Amino acid sequence: MSEPKFETLAIHAGAQPDPATGARATPIYQTTSFVFDDVDHAASLFGLQQFGNIYTRIMNPTQAVLEERVAALEGGTAALAVASGHAAQMIVFQALMRPGEEFVASRKLYGGSINQFGHAFKSFDWRVKWADPFDLADIEAQITEKTKAIFIESIANPGGVVLDIAAIAKIAHRHKLPLIVDNTMATPYLCRPLEHGADIVVHSLTKFMGGHGNSMGGVIVDGGSFDWSADDRYPMLSEPRPEYNGIVLHETFGNFAFAIACRVLGLRDLGPAISPFNAFMILTGIETLPLRMQRHCDNALTVAEHLQGHEQVAWVSYAGLPGDLSHERMQTYCPKGAGAVFTFGLKGGYEAGVKFVEALELFSHLANIGDTRSLVIHPASTTHRQLADDQKTAAGAGPDVVRLSIGIEEVSDIIADLDQALAKI
Ligand SMILES: *Cc1c(COP(=O)(O)O)cnc(C)c1O
Repeated sequence: MSEPKFETLAIHAGAQPDPATGARATPIYQTTSFVFDDVDHAASLFGLQQFGNIYTRIMNPTQAVLEERVAALEGGTAALAVASGHAAQMIVFQALMRPGEEFVASRKLYGGSINQFGHAFKSFDWRVKWADPFDLADIEAQITEKTKAIFIESIANPGGVVLDIAAIAKIAHRHKLPLIVDNTMATPYLCRPLEHGADIVVHSLTKFMGGHGNSMGGVIVDGGSFDWSADDRYPMLSEPRPEYNGIVLHETFGNFAFAIACRVLGLRDLGPAISPFNAFMILTGIETLPLRMQRHCDNALTVAEHLQGHEQVAWVSYAGLPGDLSHERMQTYCPKGAGAVFTFGLKGGYEAGVKFVEALELFSHLANIGDTRSLVIHPASTTHRQLADDQKTAAGAGPDVVRLSIGIEEVSDIIADLDQALAKI
């Protein structure tokens, strides 16, 4: 058989009928631990001489199918599934950073990531340097001899802007740094960052990958391309590990050493494992990812076009619209669609935003994206409430801004709900 296509991999990659029972769907291996064959087997598992299941914090057969599937969809060498998108980010940086070191991050990020990098990471003394992702000179200017990585989102929260991944990867590689891309908003169906020069991909599986708004999860994908031994900057990978009898991970595991480091040093010791049940739910979601994402994108474009022509709407920011700031980059990086999430402005400002959100019936008012259901939030009165007006505007959350995550309902029902709510402002 020729190399299976994306739609086929989304259903089959990593999965075989269960060897013990013949079960066709991947079973939920709801067990904490696994019996060793004998003492030698146990010793070789603990010493990393042999791969195998020991304890579900480190590895589990349901999680393993999820990992292999996402690695296949992203075109990576290996992956590690964890409890959430934030857990994935924490583990990636723990493998790269020592106290006092820095990384450069795009200012256009999911709000939770801005908090994690700007506040929580301070207690590890990992220092973020923010850069304007559309200003390549600014990105390069933030790099110092302490920098260990560059972090961006492919399609970036909250406005759905598309970044020039290849150009940012070039800057990273000129400075011998890995480029980490959060591909949550795009999913590998729309964009495969490793093909554009990224070295590591992370996801919140909680969003479009699981897709049904019912399970938290995250994943780290190793692109297999980065040379961790070029110098002494990444000792977790290039120096003998006391935890494992002096093994050098990059030497032993080659192009999937980063995924191994995240598992056997990060996940093992920090602990945010995904539950087998959530891994199963997310795997089930991924089987329909190509169908869902295309429908999300088609619906979002129809809704964006409709809003653009509405008299109460001041502006619409969606990369799928011709003339949008991100439209050209969208055609390079995600030609099948610009995703489901975008923002628009109400002419009536703050008051109109509050009334609009309250008048919607089909849309759910909540702080999430990437559900089958259509979702809405008015950032100025919720997630960004504590900021001053000028700070709100700088964060893309001005008083008039509404963010939508368009679901896969019949699009005429989505539009009818928006229209009736706009009529009530
Ligand atoms: C939700 C989200 C995260 C965080 O993921 P959790 O699963 O909620 O921890 C990170 N990045 C982006 C782009 C997200 O949307």
